[in-house]
Amino acid sequence: MLAASASFCENPEGSLLPMLGDGLEEVVPMAVTRNDNAGGQWATGGKDGRKDGNAHMTQEKWGQLRQRLLKTIGQNNYKTWIEPLEFREIEDGVATFDVPTNFLGNYVSQNFSDLILHELKAEDGSIRRITFKVPANSQGKPKLKTAPAQSNSDGPAAPLDHRFTFDSFVVGKPNELAHAAAKRVAEGGPVTFNPLFLYGGVGLGKTHLMHAIAWELQARSPNLNVLYLSAEQFMYRFVQALRDRKMMDFKSIFRSVDVLMVDDVQFIAGKDSTQEEFFHTFNALVDQNKQIIISADRAPGEIKDLEERVKSRLQCGLVVDLHPTDYELRLGILQSKVEQQRINYPEVKLSDGVLEFLALRISTNVRVLEGALVRLFAFASLVGREITMELTQDCLADVLRASERKITVEEIQRKVSEHYNIRLSDMIGPKRLRSYARPRQVAMYLAKHMTSRSLPEIGRRFGGRDHTTVMHGVRRIEELKAQDGQIAEDLELLRRALEA
Ligand code: ADP
Ligand code: MG
Repeated sequence: MLAASASFCENPEGSLLPMLGDGLEEVVPMAVTRNDNAGGQWATGGKDGRKDGNAHMTQEKWGQLRQRLLKTIGQNNYKTWIEPLEFREIEDGVATFDVPTNFLGNYVSQNFSDLILHELKAEDGSIRRITFKVPANSQGKPKLKTAPAQSNSDGPAAPLDHRFTFDSFVVGKPNELAHAAAKRVAEGGPVTFNPLFLYGGVGLGKTHLMHAIAWELQARSPNLNVLYLSAEQFMYRFVQALRDRKMMDFKSIFRSVDVLMVDDVQFIAGKDSTQEEFFHTFNALVDQNKQIIISADRAPGEIKDLEERVKSRLQCGLVVDLHPTDYELRLGILQSKVEQQRINYPEVKLSDGVLEFLALRISTNVRVLEGALVRLFAFASLVGREITMELTQDCLADVLRASERKITVEEIQRKVSEHYNIRLSDMIGPKRLRSYARPRQVAMYLAKHMTSRSLPEIGRRFGGRDHTTVMHGVRRIEELKAQDGQIAEDLELLRRALEA
C-alpha cells in the first residue's frame, strides 16, 4: 500500500555525511517579552531586593518546578527541552536560563515559554520575562560561522518554521514511510539514499518534514551547513546571479553546502536554464556525497516539462510519497494540535465529538484542519464559551461548506448494497425483510453521518420514506454498533471505502 521505490545509486557505502554549519540563523539572544507585571514585590529593594528575589526562586525551587513541567508536557518533551535548561539568575524581573544551543533556546522560547513563565510566576510574582542564553564559554556553543551562503547581502536559505519538528509531526499509516525516511536522513550518518525525494498533495506535511530534518541535523551537528530553500527561491537566486554576473558566487555557494534541501521542485519544470543549473548543482553535490532532499507535489516521472535527465537523476535515490490523510491520522493530528492550543487557551473547554466531527468533515488538507482548530479556540476564548458542536458549526460554517464531502447518498447506497450483496433496487424498494432492512438502515446511518443531507432529504432518496423512518434506522444502527461487533466492523469498512 505504501508506494516506495528504493533504488540506491552512486553512494559508496560508509561515506560519512558531512558536518553541518549553522548558516541558517544568526545567534541572537532570545527573549520572550511579557508586559504584565504581576506582583513586583521583590524588585522594590533595588540590589538588596534582587537578592531577596533570588531567594524566592532558587535552584531548588526550579528543581520542583521542573517536576511540575514534566507532568504537564510529558516525559519526551521534558527530556528533550526542559532538562537541558539551567537556571542562572533573576535580575530586574527577568529570569535567565542557560541553554546548550541556540536551537534549543529558540525552540523552548517558542513552545514552552508561556508555560514556564506561568509556573515561575507562581513562585515569584515579579518575574515578567524569560530569556535563554547560550553561555559565552559553553563548549556546545554553535560557532557563529557565516555560511558561504551568506556572503551575499542576504543568504539564499529560507527560514525554518519552529513548529515544524519531528516532535510535532503525527505519524499514521499514510505518512509512516515518508516519516521513517526523513528520520533516517536526519540522523546524519552515511548517505544511503541520494536524493531523498518526498512527494504528495498540498498540505500533507512535505515542508514540515523537510524543516524537521533541517532542525534535527542542526541540533545534532551544529557545524553542518544545511541549506533549505524552495525551488522558486532557487530560480530567483539563479536569475539574480545571471543578472549581476555573479554566477561563480552562485555556483560556489550551492556547491559548498553539506546538505541541500529544495522544496516544491515541480516549480522549475519548463524553466530550461534553471533546470540546467539545478542539474549541475545536483550532480556536483552527489559527486561529493552530500545529502540532497527534494520535495514535489507529484512523483519525478509525472512532472511535466521536466527534462529526462533531471527526472532520472531525481529517481536515483529513495522516492517516497505521502498519501492523503485518513480519518485516524486527522484525528491524531487534531488531538496533538489541541494540546498546543491548550497552552494558549487553558480556560477553553472542548466538548466530546467535536474533534471527530472535524476529522470527518475536513478531509483534504491538514493546513485547513489546523486553521479551523485555531479559529475555534480563539473564538471560544473571545466569547467565553465551550467549544460545542453548535459553536463549531457556527464558527466554521464557511470552512465546512467549502470542504463539503463529495460523498453522495447514491454512492453510499451503491457501496452498501455491494457490501451486503443485495440489489440496489431492493435496498431502496419497499421490502421489509431483515436482509434488506438492515443494510438499508446502515446506508441511512452513513448518509446521516457522511453527507450533509437532512433526514427528509435522505428519506426521499430511499424510495420516498418518511424522515421518522430514517431517524429510527439511524438510531437502530447506533444501538447495534455498540452491541454487535460485526455491525461496527461493517460500518468501519464502509466508511473507509467511501472515504478512499
Ligand atoms: P505541504 O508542504 O505538503 O503542502 P506542510 O508541510 O506545509 O504541507 O503542512 C501543512 C500544515 O499541516 C502544516 O502546518 C503542518 O504542520 C501540518 N501537518 C501536515 N501533516 C502533519 C502531521 N502528520 N502532523 C502534524 N502536522 C501536520
Ligand atoms: Mg510545502
